Amino acid sequence: MKIFKLRPNDTLHYPIDKETFEEVTLKQTPYYSGGSHFAVCPACDNPIQLIGLIPTHTNDKAPYGKHFRNGIPGLARYSQFEYDCCPLAARKTYDREQRRPSGGALSNKILTILREHFDRVVYVLEKTTGISISDNMAEAMLTRYLEQSAHTYVGSSLINIPWMLAYFSNSQGMYKRRITNEKMQQSILKKITAVQFDANNRLENKPGQYVTLNVCFIHHQTDGEGGEYVDMVVSEGMSFDEGHIVYKERQVFDHDFLERLMRKEGNESKRRQHLIDIAHRLIP
Ligand SMILES: [Zn+2]
Repeated sequence: MKIFKLRPNDTLHYPIDKETFEEVTLKQTPYYSGGSHFAVCPACDNPIQLIGLIPTHTNDKAPYGKHFRNGIPGLARYSQFEYDCCPLAARKTYDREQRRPSGGALSNKILTILREHFDRVVYVLEKTTGISISDNMAEAMLTRYLEQSAHTYVGSSLINIPWMLAYFSNSQGMYKRRITNEKMQQSILKKITAVQFDANNRLENKPGQYVTLNVCFIHHQTDGEGGEYVDMVVSEGMSFDEGHIVYKERQVFDHDFLERLMRKEGNESKRRQHLIDIAHRLIP
């Protein structure tokens, strides 16, 4: 992996490079131990070892982190279960039905972030998909997410919250939604002649025509090199066979996006209180 954090349960993480690591750890234990360097995996809270942090003349590859398969006192405990679930560990697909044991610290932290930052979670999704999300749609997505206890899903982590919200929601109708994703817009116009976009990029039926377009998110998986994604699929009508797929796009997760918003100062005035209210109501 190419990122690390200092403590389990932190959401703040850093790129792995010598300068950053020195700066945030101040070269103290348990991060520096003998000639080795340790930190915590941003996704699964297990310890990681940083490899190649100090370049040598025989090795000038970029430094990286790998899971350390033992607990490190004062830093982090090792959990085989969380390692097996970690999106940064190995190429994998997940069983959508598999859940963490309840009451896990990670699951609770995910829920807390959803509750306190729901407007930002929605914003990340809007930006990365290019589809505007109304309050009603946001509420429907969160309701469905909670019904399935998706925060305890084995593939849920602290760095993929917005996309898990999408992944666990039902397909959503696209009528009157604002679509700023140009490729998606072009694809829809090319394949579905019964629709058009108004001046605000809202999808609508042409006069006298009627067609239903839906969007859903499927196939959550990782590539084993830190990449993680779901497929966003726009389909026509109620059928999901290939012939009705209008547009498909791989949504590669930007693991830092939500964190950047949460950390950024001075954006409090841009927060959408009505979305936060929805989350506070649904997550008591
Ligand atoms: Zn991990």
